[in-house]
Amino acid sequence: IKGKAKRAAKAAPATQKAAVLGAGIMGGGIAYQSASKDIPAVMKDINDSALALGMTEAGKLLNKQLERGRIDGKKLAHVLANITPTLSYDGLQGVDTVVEAVVENPKVKGQVLAEVEASVSDDAVIASNTSTIPISTLAKHLKRPERFCGMHFFNPVHRMPLVEVIRGEHTADDTINKVVAYAAAMGKSPIVVNDCPGFFVNRVLFPYFFGFSQLVADGADFVAVDKVMEQQFGWPMGPAYLLDVVGIDTGHHAAAVMADGFPERMSKSGKDAIDVMYEAERFGQKNGKGFYAYS
Ligand code: NAD
Repeated sequence: IKGKAKRAAKAAPATQKAAVLGAGIMGGGIAYQSASKDIPAVMKDINDSALALGMTEAGKLLNKQLERGRIDGKKLAHVLANITPTLSYDGLQGVDTVVEAVVENPKVKGQVLAEVEASVSDDAVIASNTSTIPISTLAKHLKRPERFCGMHFFNPVHRMPLVEVIRGEHTADDTINKVVAYAAAMGKSPIVVNDCPGFFVNRVLFPYFFGFSQLVADGADFVAVDKVMEQQFGWPMGPAYLLDVVGIDTGHHAAAVMADGFPERMSKSGKDAIDVMYEAERFGQKNGKGFYAYS
């Protein structure tokens, strides 16, 4: 973001209180990041244990910083108190920015977006952290699609600087400006991108996952692929490990959206490695088993 767009975001009203829907890998990370930059966040899930895990993960990150002397006990308590876990929409009054981060399923997201729109004030903006589903598709579930856009963080949220802000067909400039400003206030580097399946980053990343996954289905050893990509090619991690970090279930749902959006480029015949892992419920680090095993 530069020049006029940067000035417009600076002039946008700052987010005072956020809500994050979903307390999983991403929702938990987004709520933590917001809270640690002093923007209180209500974190809503349908599952008590997801909320507990979200709070535990935030506590772990804060304790690491405490050990390194970067924060004191008072700051730790303050950041944790800035996150309000909840199972209900009741606490969403006073929230001016919502980030939806529930499962990568268009139906579930559509329902959640309609529910949250009915629970927040008229001037709140609503953003989705979807990895791949077009914003204009999700916007059909909202009465006022002009207040809706994409806000796509990367995993792990506290470490990855990039946030894609996605402009849907009906997104208003004020919505973009406010969400860009929120990303910047969270210490991130936002870019504004156009709407399509996978937006910018996942249009680049998913062909790589498809290629890897089909290579393994053709008989390649995934450990060997990871080793080459890491040690010789020089990437921080190989594709199998990265899929375990992302979550195989999320990768599987996102791959379906990409194949649907770009059938001539990303379709496949038969099952690939992601399908096999998904069917075996090997969801990656989140459930302790994916391509690799975790204890
Ligand atoms: P996750 O499986 O870790 O968490 C999803 C959470 O959503 C769960 O805690 C679940 O209980 C909750 N949930 C389901 N239905 C709900 C509802 N109706 N209301 C409230 N909560 C509900 O998934 P994740 O990896 O955090 O992914 C969430 C979103 O972020 C997806 O859209 C995904 O594509 C996107 N995303 C994921 C990554 C990644 O690397 N994992 C990166 C960028 C974006």
